[in-house]
Amino acid sequence: MIEDLIKPNIKALMAYTIEATPCSIRLDANESPYGFPLGQFRLPTNRYPDPEAVALRRFLAYKWGVEPECILHGNGSDELIYYLLTAVGGPVLIPTPTFSMYRVIAESLGEGYIMVPLDERFDLDMEATFMAMDKYNPKLIFLSRPNNPTGNSFTFGRVIEVIEKAGGLVIVDEAYQPFSPRGDSFVDLLPRYRNLLVMRTLSKIGLAALRLGFLLGDKPLIEMINKVRLPYNVNSLSQAAAIGILEDEHSIDKAVSSVVDERDKLFAELSKLQGIEAYPSNANFILFKLTLNGSLNAEIFHKKLIEDDILIKKLAGGGPLDNCFRVTVGTPKENAAFITSLNKIIKNN
Ligand SMILES: *Cc1c(COP(=O)(O)O)cnc(C)c1O
Repeated sequence: MIEDLIKPNIKALMAYTIEATPCSIRLDANESPYGFPLGQFRLPTNRYPDPEAVALRRFLAYKWGVEPECILHGNGSDELIYYLLTAVGGPVLIPTPTFSMYRVIAESLGEGYIMVPLDERFDLDMEATFMAMDKYNPKLIFLSRPNNPTGNSFTFGRVIEVIEKAGGLVIVDEAYQPFSPRGDSFVDLLPRYRNLLVMRTLSKIGLAALRLGFLLGDKPLIEMINKVRLPYNVNSLSQAAAIGILEDEHSIDKAVSSVVDERDKLFAELSKLQGIEAYPSNANFILFKLTLNGSLNAEIFHKKLIEDDILIKKLAGGGPLDNCFRVTVGTPKENAAFITSLNKIIKNN
């Protein structure tokens, strides 16, 4: 069989399929509801992109208060997770539930991983985490903060304890940091901890189409990881467009604040509803649980929303996220449509 040429760990892998459900209100992928004009670029199409993305890294270094040499650019942060696992390897410690790509990429590369359950408030379970660290001595620890899909930010002090105890690298994935309280970031702690890396992405603030992610850390470490980066991983158009769009800081900030305001309104609305338990969020989405008893199960609920042309993410059941959904904050109009549909579905139950 020709398929036998495929490595066993790849054969065993569940394909990460993103199903295309045709809904016009798309609140399933944590995208921004607001896009930006791409502009006109006079780029030489016959030339390769700048392999080191010098201009873009310089621009972001200034914005984030780090040196350009402390930034590694990726085709989305997914690619940087891939590079980390390629350059460092496992075992990887993954508090769960969290972003699935940490595990998926570890599996693709045949690296071992340890999933440590979060506590009942979706915060780091320090006892379990320390026990796993002692037992497995993980080379990489991925902490999504705010955490996808739970929306909360792990307690700052707990993350510090993990960084201080870890013999390996700790990656604080700040994909949703722009939606968090100002200053609630680990970027400023980079000079203090050599084993700390911070990951950022432009995907959640309205630039998902460009595929741009960044890893921030100690210069020698960034240089090492840079060795496994494919030469032209970020294309010229994305490099140029990102600078052009980010220069208009006001427009970016306005879009982010609108999402934050709408998130807080949406949370208040969800909290009022019987049969829904909403979890507080520092991100651009809200996790909620269906607590109704009756004929309305998670499957039917999801379908009914789709019938109303609204797509949200249904989370895998069987664990702490049983009957849970993740809804991305949309425009005021989209959020209102979601709440209206939700009210109707619950009332008719
Ligand atoms: C969406 C997301 C990312 C972003 O991935 P990109 O590849 O940059 O689009 C990274 N980490 C977490 C936790 C996410 O939810």
